[in-house]
Amino acid sequence: MLPQKNHSAVFSGPKNFEIKDLPIPKEENGKVLLKTLSCAVCGYDVRVFNEGHKKVRPPIVLGHEICAKTLNTVNLPNKQIIPEDKRVIVSPLIPCLNCHHCSAGCFNSCNNLNEIGSSINGGFADYLDIPQNNILINGIIPIENNIHDDEASLIEPLSCCLNAHLNFNIPIRDEFVIIIGDGPIGLIHLQISKLHGAKTIVVGKIPSRLNEAKLIGADMVLLNNDPEESIKSIWDQTYKKGGKLIIVATSNPEAVDLALKVAGKNSLISIFAGISRNKIVRIDPNLLHYNQITLSGSFSSTPNVMKKAMDMVHQQKINLRRLITHRFSLDEIDKAFMITEGCNGLRSIINSF
Ligand SMILES: [Zn+2]
Ligand SMILES: [Zn+2]
Repeated sequence: MLPQKNHSAVFSGPKNFEIKDLPIPKEENGKVLLKTLSCAVCGYDVRVFNEGHKKVRPPIVLGHEICAKTLNTVNLPNKQIIPEDKRVIVSPLIPCLNCHHCSAGCFNSCNNLNEIGSSINGGFADYLDIPQNNILINGIIPIENNIHDDEASLIEPLSCCLNAHLNFNIPIRDEFVIIIGDGPIGLIHLQISKLHGAKTIVVGKIPSRLNEAKLIGADMVLLNNDPEESIKSIWDQTYKKGGKLIIVATSNPEAVDLALKVAGKNSLISIFAGISRNKIVRIDPNLLHYNQITLSGSFSSTPNVMKKAMDMVHQQKINLRRLITHRFSLDEIDKAFMITEGCNGLRSIINSF
């Protein structure tokens, strides 16, 4: 028997959560109801909480890094049958399935995209319902047994990082990869770059996080107190080559300027993180032109890439567990958001509802 109420943290406008018991969503119109087990707090959630976002219309339940379990058997279009009571991860994408990007399978580029935890209620609640268009792209994926619930919730951000790397199209073996941002996302990019045999430099502002980057195996970490000093140091450390790949994994717009100034010839800069609202960055186009620098971006992921990300965790090629530093109940969500905003530790997880 399902309980009658869905204990939820409702985002009701900037800087405001209301802990409420909502009705349990109904399994109708092809929707699938899941019981949430863990949901990680993303930097995006904190930006939405503080500033709002054009995709988000409160009141809404945020949370898109989700580990949940099925309440009934689910039949997926890929012929996979997920039994009742099976743990799953959830792609946040609800694509329209009509636009040309959807036709090409690029569901994260859908022209009419809805997203769980942004435009549709997400994982900071006891239960969540998954719309049919997510099921139609096989958006719920069973979790391998050796992966813990909290770790599983971080497969979503891992898959976003992996999606970026799959699109880079430049070899990075023995090349310098510069990761600007020492948060959980930067540390995931660090792990993927190391797997590809790159020489890695992590630039950040939090000594404890840079220390973690060192422990993960960064070849160099740089505390960025003075950007001019950092730029000089990177050119020295890379023997005047600069970075081959520069990943901007922070929402601080100044990082884009730093990326342009440490990019080597024939390099690629990836804007991975969303930048705070209304922040415009000026760039010198001649830096791109004369140095043949590619400026690119990447957003979200697809269920296929999420499966690849799950395999990497299953095979212990990527360690997500070490990125989890705090765990809270749903009633303590304010605390989890404060810790994330204050860059204390790495990822905070909501895992009791
Ligand atoms: Zn996220
Ligand atoms: Zn579409």
